[in-house]
Amino acid sequence: MTKNLNAKKEYLLQNQELFGKEIFLDIAQQSSPFPNQLNTFEKNICNCEKCDLHKSRTNFVFGEGDKNASLLLIGEAPGAQEDLEGRPFVGRSGKLLDKILKAIDRDRFNDTYICNILKCRPPENRNPSSSEVDKCKPYLNHQIKLINPKLIVTLGLVATSTLLGKDSSLKDMRNNIFYYMNYPVIVTYHPAFLLRSPSFKRNAWEDFKKIRDYIKN
Ligand code: URA
Repeated sequence: MTKNLNAKKEYLLQNQELFGKEIFLDIAQQSSPFPNQLNTFEKNICNCEKCDLHKSRTNFVFGEGDKNASLLLIGEAPGAQEDLEGRPFVGRSGKLLDKILKAIDRDRFNDTYICNILKCRPPENRNPSSSEVDKCKPYLNHQIKLINPKLIVTLGLVATSTLLGKDSSLKDMRNNIFYYMNYPVIVTYHPAFLLRSPSFKRNAWEDFKKIRDYIKN
C-alpha cells in the first residue's frame, strides 16, 4: 500500500483542484468477479471466447513477470511470435525492450511485469477494435489491481490512447504523467516504432531514465 502513497496523494490533490472537496470513488472497481491471485486469474480467463480473436489465436497471452512488480509495461496486443509462444514481447521488438530494460538495470522478471491491452493477437497485427478492447479491458484492469505497480508505462500510441482514452499525439503525451485507476502512467514509444525509426531511441532513453528515477523515489 505504501508504495503508491505519493501517487495517491498527488491524484487526490489533482482531484481537489478540479472538483473541490468532493471525491469520486469508482464503486465498480471495489468488487471484482475475478480471483485475487494472478496465476489463478490467468487460468480462469485463458480460454476466453468473448470476442472473435479466440478463433484465430494460437495462445492466449496473459503477460509475464514479477507479480509484485513496481513497474508495469503495457503494450498493444500480441504479435505473431507472441501468439506462437504465449508470452508478451518475445519477437524483435521484445528483444529491443529487453535491452532497454537492461539499460535501466532491470529485466522482465525482476520487479517488472509486461502485458498488453489485448490478450489475443489481432489478425495481420491490425489495431485492436473498440469492441475487442471493451471486452478485454476488464482483464487488464484486474491484472493492474493485483500487481498494484508503482508506475505504469504504456508503449506506443495505440496502447496509450486505448488505456487513457486520449486522442493526443505521443509527442504531446510523452512528457506528462497521467493517471489510470489512480496509478501514475508514463507514456513512451513502442519498441517496434524504435526499430523502424532509430533516431527516436535518444528520446526513448530520456523517457526510460525518467521511468527509472520515478520508481527509485
Ligand atoms: N507488440 C505489442 O504491443 N505487444 C507484444 O506483446 C508484442 C509486440
